[in-house]
Amino acid sequence: MHHMTLAEIARGLADKKFSSEELTKVLLARIAQLDPQLNSFISLTEELALDQAKAADARRANGESGALLGAPIAHKDLFCTQGIRTSCGSKMLDNFKAPYDATVVAKLAAAGTVTLGKTNMDEFAMGSANESSYYGAVKNPWNLEHVPGGSSGGSAAAVAARLLPAATATDTGGSIRQPAAFTNLTGLKPTYGRVSRWGMIAYASSLDQGGPLARTAEDCAILLQGMAGFDPNDSTSIDEPVPDYSASLNGSLQGLRIGVPKEYFSAGLDPRIAELVHNSVKELEKLGAVIKEISLPNMQHAIPAYYVIAPAEASSNLSRFDGVRFGYRCENPENLMDLYKRSRGEGFGAEVQRRIMVGAYALSAGYYDAYYLKAQKIRRLVKNDFMAAFNEVDIILGPTTPNPAWKLGAKNSDPVAEYLEDVYTITANLAGLPGLSMPAGFVDGLPVGVQLLAPYFQEGRLLNVAHQYQLNTDWHTRTPTGF
Ligand code: GLN
Repeated sequence: MHHMTLAEIARGLADKKFSSEELTKVLLARIAQLDPQLNSFISLTEELALDQAKAADARRANGESGALLGAPIAHKDLFCTQGIRTSCGSKMLDNFKAPYDATVVAKLAAAGTVTLGKTNMDEFAMGSANESSYYGAVKNPWNLEHVPGGSSGGSAAAVAARLLPAATATDTGGSIRQPAAFTNLTGLKPTYGRVSRWGMIAYASSLDQGGPLARTAEDCAILLQGMAGFDPNDSTSIDEPVPDYSASLNGSLQGLRIGVPKEYFSAGLDPRIAELVHNSVKELEKLGAVIKEISLPNMQHAIPAYYVIAPAEASSNLSRFDGVRFGYRCENPENLMDLYKRSRGEGFGAEVQRRIMVGAYALSAGYYDAYYLKAQKIRRLVKNDFMAAFNEVDIILGPTTPNPAWKLGAKNSDPVAEYLEDVYTITANLAGLPGLSMPAGFVDGLPVGVQLLAPYFQEGRLLNVAHQYQLNTDWHTRTPTGF
């Protein structure tokens, strides 16, 4: 039962082959048995899950239908869940029970999903390895000595290990696409403003975007359908109709113009990944796509710009965690300043503290123009590169990551080495564009992803290309041994 995709589960429930309650029990037992190896969950919500499953079964018995009605999922532990711990992977929020549901959580619950639990993540979503969590590192089910990617590593490891069919995640600089690539999943970062950020604990507000992690493009379409839409509670949410994503899957790729940026194939890319990217291009050519070389000349400046902008916004967003209003408070503070200092010093981990310091420095008087303002100008150049490229092509294709998943601990002593791994994903966040990663082969037994980028609000086009690719390849069906 645990091998089923969301689409298969929806058919099985509609055909009364099993109930949501039965499926939920199977998956909860599987999590209890296998998750100790992976550490992909921070909290399990068994009681809530069984209540939601029974309610979904009752709704079906009353004649209701819907692709998500009775579908088991989990939420990355930065989506607020009412009355349930929402930790953001941090000691700072270890004791925080959200007083309300995030819009994404509420929308999916209304669609009938069953929440199995809250998934592990890098602390405050900062990281590319899921090693900065207060709750310990997550392991990659393809090789337990390797990282699953971050920051949505818990969602990715759980779905890859068939503990559940799909999960929510967020992507500020690659945290949906990169763990998808490292664990052989399909992950979609929507256009900025497509999915509400209300109740999604902020890392870098102008970059953060929620989206689906699943095994297939078809399932990403189903989950995105339940997440997307205008939300008056989020001032950056965009009031644009939500198309039927599942209906977009079957379009023909005949004549589709795919741009492959020449800058993607620089010295930093593992040549074995380059070869798999070329293979995916050939596959799409067989389906009728036309390939064109393009250029994104400002790509080289994206990492430094991102690692100024994201920490700058984080330093501002995380100032609310002061030991007074939310979360952790130090013991016996001597005075107010001591309370602030020790609550933050003890509540935040090393990577979060590093980002707050970098961000506060970049925003400070005298340095603002040299760092923050400069980074914002680069951000515009990166966006302009994409706008020019999309005048010539419909989709941009390349690797999701320069290397496959590295060994746990391999980059712990060198944060910049980890930042460099985000080179292919962060540009989409800087520009606000939608991006998808899909399975495209293996290197040394570890999965490799190919990334597709599209113009604003063309999530359907990304899902269409990925689905057609998946109808003609079987990478996405491979299962890690032992799971
Ligand atoms: N690795 C990037 C960072 O640490 C992106 C993380 C994310 O997308 N949340 O900022």
